[in-house]
Formats: sequence, structure tokens, C-alpha cells
Amino acid sequence: MTTLSTTLAKRLNDPRLLRQYAYVNGKWTHGSEGREEAVIDPATGESIGHIPLLEAEQIKAAVDAAEAAFTQWRALRADERCERLLAWYDLIQAHREDLALVMTLEQGKPLPDARGEVEYGASFVRWFAEEGKRTYGETIPSHIPNAALGTLKEPVGIAALITPWNFPLAMITRKAAAALAAGCPVIVKPANETPYSALALAELAERAGIPAGIFNVVLGEAAEVSRILCAEPRVKALSFTGSTRVGRLLMEQCAGTVKRLSLELGGNAPFIVGPDMDPREAALAAVAAKFQTAGQDCLAANRILVHVSIHDAFVEHFAARMAALTVGNGLHGETDLGPLIHRQAVEKAAAIVDDAISRGATLVAGEQRDAPGENFFMPVLLTGVTPEMKVWREENFAPVAGITAYHDDDEVIAMANDTEYGLAAYVYTYDIRRIWKLMRALEYGMVSVNSVKMTGPPVPFGGVKQSGLGREGGACGIDEYLETKYYCLGAL
Ligand code: NAD
Repeated sequence: MTTLSTTLAKRLNDPRLLRQYAYVNGKWTHGSEGREEAVIDPATGESIGHIPLLEAEQIKAAVDAAEAAFTQWRALRADERCERLLAWYDLIQAHREDLALVMTLEQGKPLPDARGEVEYGASFVRWFAEEGKRTYGETIPSHIPNAALGTLKEPVGIAALITPWNFPLAMITRKAAAALAAGCPVIVKPANETPYSALALAELAERAGIPAGIFNVVLGEAAEVSRILCAEPRVKALSFTGSTRVGRLLMEQCAGTVKRLSLELGGNAPFIVGPDMDPREAALAAVAAKFQTAGQDCLAANRILVHVSIHDAFVEHFAARMAALTVGNGLHGETDLGPLIHRQAVEKAAAIVDDAISRGATLVAGEQRDAPGENFFMPVLLTGVTPEMKVWREENFAPVAGITAYHDDDEVIAMANDTEYGLAAYVYTYDIRRIWKLMRALEYGMVSVNSVKMTGPPVPFGGVKQSGLGREGGACGIDEYLETKYYCLGAL
């Protein structure tokens, strides 16, 4: 087995958090055929370690382990599961610095953002630990003589959780905490780009007393592992966060076993600025909503729609704020934007910008000459963006901002809804009538008015249209892992 880069291990307060193995049935496991893949620091292009690629029978072994452990986990009282989850939460918080460092090295995001993600990810564990105590069934007034009717909530069974690389820790806890609290064992398949955050969570879950077989992390060739998990009848639920393209594929693959599906897919958020807004205030918010995680965020404000009366002033403030952003290695204190995840992402961003310019957009700012490395992309501002451009149609997942002027509310509603995506929309205006009109008319799962921050444990996160199915977080987040069993007690 290849040894980890010693520099990384030495920087951690607890080097045991950095694991190069899969975690199945409470054991650290290497690939039975010895296949491995390197994990790359996107800022430097250097390998920070390796992960094993498991074989099909090892993925099946994870399902066997989860099946065996399920009986015991579901039989625990809700407050007993709550205690284990709270212990997990405490350990995640106690190791926040190490978890953030691991995340910055494998994902590239600035260290303060990584710390923020650990905090955000941990908050779901605490919230669902408590919510697990409130999975109430109901009593139904009977229409049958001498009968008592009601419902019970029961864990759905083994849940496979497939997660992306842009939020390597929080996308796991947002699913796993809900599933575990509901009484379900989980098999996590993290993105191969960012496996170490997932493996550190497994190490801490073990220390928290979560039994062997209940929290498993499998690694392997993504399409192969997912195919096995989707085809496996003992896996009862699939929760996926990632691109709409892969989401569609997994949906097809789950059809054979009719699984419970939660899909958190891509977004292409509009950011609407009303004529009454202070253009500077709105521009600062739009920059924050666009450049988080270097634009690699499903909530990124991709299509910025500004009322024509304040368009020019808005563009000026946006460009000035954007120019003050520092692009660099996430470990450096002054960095606002880290690298993109790999070279292909940089090439895709460049192609989207070229396409926009060739179709008549204006490049206001965004010289790539100054990029500090081959995986970096300097923030780009385009104006005059129109619907036939890729920057409008596709989720660019890069620091590429496109601005379009509009004339009235009906026009901007049509523009905002002109996409296959429906995850999140931002509205900036203080006009209450406009707020209500837009909020009702926007075809999105989430609408945030005058606030960049919108997510967190108590609220339902999810999209409509081709942004997905189901919700994470909030009371409905745990329902994704529960079945409703109706009972009729007759002849009473
Ligand atoms: P992706 O779809 O490429 O990968 C997501 C996961 O699927 C990873 O674990 C990957 O290994 C796996 N995968 C990749 N190809 C596969 C295949 N052919 N078969 C089975 N599994 C496969 O997405 P990504 O690039 O890792 O993440 C970015 C996407 O995730 C964006 O579209 C973004 O909007 C979306 N996202 C959505 C949310 C949300 O909550 N809605 C949150 C974060 C990211």
C-alpha cells in the first residue's frame, strides 16, 4: 500500500483521521485486487495519497454487513441512537481544524470556507440526532366499526449515499445523519476526488460508538460501484447529490429494484435585482452568491438579472468587488477563491466564456494570464448574456458571472424560469408586492429574498424540475428514510 504524503499526516493534530482505506463493517479495507487511484491536491497538482478501488464482491460485502447490522440499529431506542449521533457531532467539532485541512487539501476551497463547511456539516448531525426522537406516526379516526387505525414510521432499510466533491463533508452528513437517526444503515460512496473527508467521518463515527456495518464508506470506479448499489435489492433507498446527467442515469438504474430515490441535482440560479435596490448593496450580495467555492456550488448565482434602470451602476460595483477577490491556494490566508477541481473544469469554463463572447456577450473582466496555476480560473464577468449562450443554459460550475438587463417583472420571471433547472433563486428588492409576485411565480424549490445565506438543518433543501426529487434537512429530510406503515386493529 502506498504511504500517505508524510507532510500532510504531520500537519494533522490527529494523523489517524487520514485514512487510505475503504471502511466496511467496521474494518479498514483495501482493494482485493490491489487497484488504487491517486488523490490530487487541485491547487498544486500533486498527489496527496491514494485510495483503494474495491471489487464487486467487496461492495456486496458492505451490503451484507449493513443488512446484518440493521436489526440491531433499528431496535435501539431513538434516544440511544441520538446519543451516538451527538457523540459523533462532538467529535466532528473537536477535530474541526484537521477536517478543514483535509478538505482544503483534497478539494481546494479556502481554509475558512472548509471550517465553515465542517460547522455546517456537523450542524445536521446535531439536528437529526434530536429529530430522530420525533418520527411520529398518527392516529386516524376510524371509519371501520370497532377498529383502531393509525400509522407507524419505520426505517426504510439500507440507504446508499452517493455524494459529490464540491462539499465533501456536508453532503454526507446531511444525508447520513437523517438516515442513521431514522434507524437505517448507510453505504456512502464519496466522489473519488475527495474521499478523505468521508473516511475521516467514518473514523469519528467508529469512535462515537456507531456499530460496525452501520456507517460504511466504499470506494471504487464510480460507475461500477453505483451500478452495483442501484441493482442491489437489499439497498432500499438511494440518495444522490451530483449532476443532473448522473442523476438521470442512477434513476434508470434504480428502476429495476424500485428504490426510494432522493436526488439533489444541478442548479442554474437566477439572481434578480429589482429597480428599487441600491446597486452597490445588490452587487456585493451577488458577488458573494456567485463566487462561493470558486463558483462550484449548486446554489451559485449564475444568471444575474438586473433591472435596466440600475444595470450600469450594478455592473460597475460588481466588477470592482470582483477585482478585489484573491485567487490562490486555499491554504494561504488571503485566498478568496481556490482552484477548480481539475483541468477539465478549467477547460469547460474557458469554452463557456468563448461561446458567450462569440455570440455577442461583452467580457468586462477576467484575464486568465494571471491565473496562479493550471487548475485555477480567474473570475470572469460577462454582460449582454442571452438565452442562446451556454453561460445561460448550462450550470457553469466556475467563477463565471453573466449579467442580463431586463425591463419589467413579467419579463424577468420568464427569463428566470427559462431553464431545465429549478433548485434555488435569489430575489433582491424591498418592494413587498414584487417579492410576493416573484416568490409565487419562480419555478424553484427554494427562493431567497434579500439574503445570500438560505440553507441549514431546519429547512427543506431541494429542487423542482430537473434539479431533483425529495428534500434534505428539515422535518421532511428524515422522511426520505422512513416508510409509513398503516395498521388497522379490528374487532376491538
Ligand atoms: P457528478 O454527478 O459527476 O458526481 C457525483 C457523484 O456521482 C460522485 O460520487 C461521482 O463519483 C459519481 N459518479 C460520477 N459519474 C458516475 C456515473 N457514470 N455513474 C455513477 N456515479 C457516478 O457531480 P460532481 O461533479 O461530483 O458534483 C457537481 C454537481 O453536483 C453539480 O451539478 C452540482 O450542482 C451538484 N450538486 C448539487 C447539490 C444539491 O444539493 N442539489 C449540492 C452539491 C452539488
